[in-house]
Amino acid sequence: MPIYLDYHATTPVDPRVLDAMLPYFTQRFGNPASRQHSFGWDAQKAVDAAREQVAGLIGASAGEIVFTSGASESNNLAIKGTACALRERGNHLITAVTEHKSVLDTFKRLQGEGFDVTFLPVDSDGFIDLDQLRGSLSDKTILVSVMAANNEIGTVQRLNEIGAITSARGVIFHTDAAQAAGKVPLDVNAANVDLMSLTGHKCYGPKGAGALFVRRRKPKLQLACQIDGGGHEGGLRSGTLNVPGIVGLGAAADICRSEMPSESPRLRDLRDRLLASLRASLPHVRVNGALGDGRLPHNLHVTFDGVEGERLLMAIGDLAVSTGSACSSGSQRASHVLEAIGAADRPGASIRFGLGRWTTEAEIDAAAERVVKVVRSLQVLT
Ligand SMILES: *Cc1c(COP(=O)(O)O)cnc(C)c1O
Repeated sequence: MPIYLDYHATTPVDPRVLDAMLPYFTQRFGNPASRQHSFGWDAQKAVDAAREQVAGLIGASAGEIVFTSGASESNNLAIKGTACALRERGNHLITAVTEHKSVLDTFKRLQGEGFDVTFLPVDSDGFIDLDQLRGSLSDKTILVSVMAANNEIGTVQRLNEIGAITSARGVIFHTDAAQAAGKVPLDVNAANVDLMSLTGHKCYGPKGAGALFVRRRKPKLQLACQIDGGGHEGGLRSGTLNVPGIVGLGAAADICRSEMPSESPRLRDLRDRLLASLRASLPHVRVNGALGDGRLPHNLHVTFDGVEGERLLMAIGDLAVSTGSACSSGSQRASHVLEAIGAADRPGASIRFGLGRWTTEAEIDAAAERVVKVVRSLQVLT
């Protein structure tokens, strides 16, 4: 049996989530936009309930949740929607070099359209420098977008501090919380977040269902919509609602909210056990990213010196992890995140482990044993 330790790439749907979704494919198939009959009302009720559940996970109110197809779309809507809406006020945007592609490429497109974009560097643990953020703000700055948690090295940014800086300057703060939601506590008010992207399939919900939190109060945020049409979702995102997906996203958020206090420490302990096993048996294990509170509890990202990335990938067999070379001279290119933290210049091979709801101690021990064996057989240390 293969061992799945790639929960940052996607997660299975929780059976409880699936149970909640199923009726909305068949008997309860109504369109929430149908205002004239009970089929529509029933669907609308389900969507309303899901909106409450998603809002509940991040300390928002239901009216501040816009359903989308996932975090990529939410990121596009948040960033392009703000840039277009506030263009008159200024053309300067700030983000970080370690963001997800759906953020970076959106900013690159805006750069091509004449916006001035600052890509903040990060330190060796993946954190942005708050003084550098302060120093980058100008009267022309309209938006700061910094992810809540990194999808490769698990760095959890200091959202509260960032939000304090942006709100004091009246700058919109967007955060991509695709990896953080349901894993670490998030509170849009404590962190002064104006826009937050979420996605179902990273937290045991379905693929193709996501949300964007859009602040309604203090002050109400105006976004330029990116998909025109029937004016669904408060005019921000037209298109018939994906009711089963939305119900699933709501159920997933609700389970995360109630189980996070026990689930996250369990995964942190398993993650620490995995790292301890690797370190006990291998001489050169480099951890990429911070350890401790600044890291997602279910993430471990390590580089093994003296191992060729491609050979590791071949030998790792039925261990489902994400591998990447840290070696810029190898045929595999180092990721932009490893480059940003300065981990790409030394030869070695990296593995990202993503633990999740169904990861067991036995699986962690088997995975560690497997990795140790493979690395030992491939490692050439000089
Ligand atoms: C997975 C991921 C996304 C993209 O989410 P989709 O729902 O697949 O579009 C965006 N940002 C981060 C940090 C992610 O991990």
